[in-house]
Amino acid sequence: MENLEIWDKEYVWHPFTQMQQYRNEETPIIERGEGSYLFDTKGRKYLDGISSLWVTTHGHCCREINEAIQAQLNKISHSTLLGLANVPSILLAKKLVEITPQGLTKVFYSDSGATAVEIALKIAFQYWCQARGEENKEKQKFVYLDNSYHGDTVGSVSVGGIDLFHRLYKPLLFDGYKVPSPYCYRCPMGKEKGSCGMACLEPLEELLAARGREIASLIIEPLVQGAAGMITSPPGYLKRVREICTSYNVLMIADEVAVGFGRTGKMFACEEEGVSPDIMCLAKGITGGYLPLGATLTTDEIFEAFLGSHEEQKTFYHGHTYTGNPLAGAAALANLEIFDKKQVITGLQPKIELLTKGLATFYALPWVGEIRQKGMMIGIELVQNKAAKEPFPFALNIGHRVTLEARKRGLITRPLGNVIVLMPILSMSEEELTEVLDITYTSIKTVCADIVGKGLITG
Ligand SMILES: *Cc1c(COP(=O)(O)O)cnc(C)c1O
Repeated sequence: MENLEIWDKEYVWHPFTQMQQYRNEETPIIERGEGSYLFDTKGRKYLDGISSLWVTTHGHCCREINEAIQAQLNKISHSTLLGLANVPSILLAKKLVEITPQGLTKVFYSDSGATAVEIALKIAFQYWCQARGEENKEKQKFVYLDNSYHGDTVGSVSVGGIDLFHRLYKPLLFDGYKVPSPYCYRCPMGKEKGSCGMACLEPLEELLAARGREIASLIIEPLVQGAAGMITSPPGYLKRVREICTSYNVLMIADEVAVGFGRTGKMFACEEEGVSPDIMCLAKGITGGYLPLGATLTTDEIFEAFLGSHEEQKTFYHGHTYTGNPLAGAAALANLEIFDKKQVITGLQPKIELLTKGLATFYALPWVGEIRQKGMMIGIELVQNKAAKEPFPFALNIGHRVTLEARKRGLITRPLGNVIVLMPILSMSEEELTEVLDITYTSIKTVCADIVGKGLITG
């Protein structure tokens, strides 16, 4: 067992991790999970405050999902969807069509959020190539939001708006049009929240009015820009985006990879504003946090543009080897059954209110600039000076320091820059949620006070 620590540092290259720093830190090695808790090889116990990177829905080692996977394991683990069918992929597609917004009727599977997005982009592009009408032949470009995140493959990065992650790869990427993000705390239009009339939508409308002829699609994370630091959009924003896309004949892709499956308090974020996208991307919570699975849903109208005889070559020439994996399908079906049986979405309301109430007390800390919450998704933006909204210096790595402090106190989190993220497991009890908040509060306070004490900032 001792060797695991050495071998981890010797052989494993961790994602989104500065390995020089990582190699000098002691990191828990997770061995098992149970409900809301993770246990490491040293027997230490942690609350999973980020649902193991936003995926776990009904807890770790959930009996029903375990049993569903075991039952499927005894039948078959994998068979291809290229020209063949399998049982779980059919049942799951039917179920997804039933529960997602109206109009989405076809399901294309893959194995991650990034692949679900790649597929959405390629479908949107090919749709216009094959759709009737000469006036649509130039529709090849994509519109994305500043601060957006849609995954790490080259296509997804091309529609990504987070400079720190994406800027370097610019020479590799296809061009698109970037429009402002609804980041009200630091409004890109220099307006005040509430009295702005959603001025950040004007550049979008102007762009589509001027260049709609060359724009295939807009891609958006509905309600919450997750990876950017849980940037929550104002009420009505998403609906307005849908209306603008419709008026200029631009397809709307809703990337619900993070927000889907209950995270915002609704099953899907689009429901909140009665929006039906033309294409929807799902992953993360789809299997309850058990197995990699992505799904891209679309409408009959789009699907039909791909129909034709063999020699017309309108086929969607795309697929991944593990597309429609039966084990992942069985896990997803069991996950969705629990949502129904335990009325999970209804049960979230008191938990969301408890979080809102608890979080309000965080403003007492002089370093808490803004708390953003949509349902079970929370971002706490730390600043060194509240009045000036002055960010902590990048070099201080404040989010990481808070993470290490929380870990000592029995909570796993993962920050996004200076934003402390909480994404509790949907099944967490009110007591566990209270503990998540308490540890987070104390950790922020301890770390920031220490930094001030050492004279690293003036605030
Ligand atoms: C995580 C995420 C992705 C990428 O999903 P992967 O499974 O990591 O490829 C895409 N879009 C959004 C909004 C995400 O949060």
